[in-house]
Amino acid sequence: MRLYVAPLLLFFAAVPVLAQAAASTVGELTIRPLQHATLVLSHGETTIYVDPLGGAEAFAGEAPPDLILITHVHGDHLDPATVAAVAQDDTTIVVPQSVAERLGEVKGVVKVLANGETAEVAGVSVEAIPMYNLTEERTQFHPKGLGNGYVVTVGGQRVYISGDTEDIPEMRALENIDVAFVCMNLPYTMDVEKAADAVLEFQPRVVIPYHYRGQGGFSDLEKFKEIVSKNPKIEVRLLDWYPE
Ligand code: ZN
Ligand code: ZN
Repeated sequence: MRLYVAPLLLFFAAVPVLAQAAASTVGELTIRPLQHATLVLSHGETTIYVDPLGGAEAFAGEAPPDLILITHVHGDHLDPATVAAVAQDDTTIVVPQSVAERLGEVKGVVKVLANGETAEVAGVSVEAIPMYNLTEERTQFHPKGLGNGYVVTVGGQRVYISGDTEDIPEMRALENIDVAFVCMNLPYTMDVEKAADAVLEFQPRVVIPYHYRGQGGFSDLEKFKEIVSKNPKIEVRLLDWYPE
């Protein structure tokens, strides 16, 4: 009997259990990158979906959301069908006005936050941070005031989610950020140099590049990491945002 056990274990070890992205943790906060700009944050009984895309099946392994954060109306951030599929009666969906107008029929409560406004939702403090382009030829992508980045406090961590933005003063002025999700892709947001420079200024404890595929393919994350390494107190954590 014993002889058959080892090959059996090997067989199971070689087969991926689930096609679910690997979780990463910061303190008691669990982070699951799903794709490009879509992620799940969880702590204890609290589950937050950010820019949910991919239909209910993309969230098959996750608890239903207490909170959904949506940054802006672009198709890589807002998919009304996915929101409708995952939102529950007790879900709060925090959005800018531009998203509320396109959301359609969904379960739960839709809470509109303008840039700079805050709310307390499901035991989570949420602050809407501006997100916009600074470079003249890119301002049409993300005009100021239409979208929200967010700072949420969950699991004892202050988490910044940039949305689509350049290195705006409001990002550079952030304080006491434990985990920062920062976009970096051209032409829609910013290059890795600007992203790294902003990160060196607001000094999050952990920075996780996300939203880094642009017109020319993937941004140079090694270069981003190298620039940020000027401050050894900042951990650059690279996660897989683009599964096959
Ligand atoms: Zn966008
Ligand atoms: Zn985007």
